[in-house]
Amino acid sequence: MPDCAVVVGDVCCYQCHHILSDRILFQWGEVPAFYSIGDEVRWVKRHLDIMMPFKLYKGFSSWNCGDPTIENLLAFDGDFFDITIGETRLCPNCAASVAGAAVAIVANRLSRTITYSRTSLAHLFEGNIGLADIIVMTSDGNYITRPDWFDPPVEYVDEE
Ligand SMILES: [Zn+2]
Repeated sequence: MPDCAVVVGDVCCYQCHHILSDRILFQWGEVPAFYSIGDEVRWVKRHLDIMMPFKLYKGFSSWNCGDPTIENLLAFDGDFFDITIGETRLCPNCAASVAGAAVAIVANRLSRTITYSRTSLAHLFEGNIGLADIIVMTSDGNYITRPDWFDPPVEYVDEE
């Protein structure tokens, strides 16, 4: 079962804006899911209610990651760059060392893709680099890493 949502959109070098990829994989909202930039985040519903996160109910092929009350966050691509081992990619155009890529979700919409240098990632994640791939942006402009949502186990619920 695919365990990521996909957003299609240019992923550009933070330094020279050369296009590095045409998509980002992430986990937030309905997983798996397929989006374009500008789309609203979707959540899987069961009996008209948003399903509990990290539970896959019998008869469903998708599950929810995260918290639908949170509308502003950065969801990092765990496959594009393996941030757990500190892998980086060199931009083929300007040779910038690109260490991470994320989709910014603003007001519950997929706003844009962003790439990061290792220094800016270390600043964003503080002590949690490699241990989290979701950063919540609070209304007062703070960033909160959520290692509790990193590669979460999904519980299968055998209930109609
Ligand atoms: Zn570049």
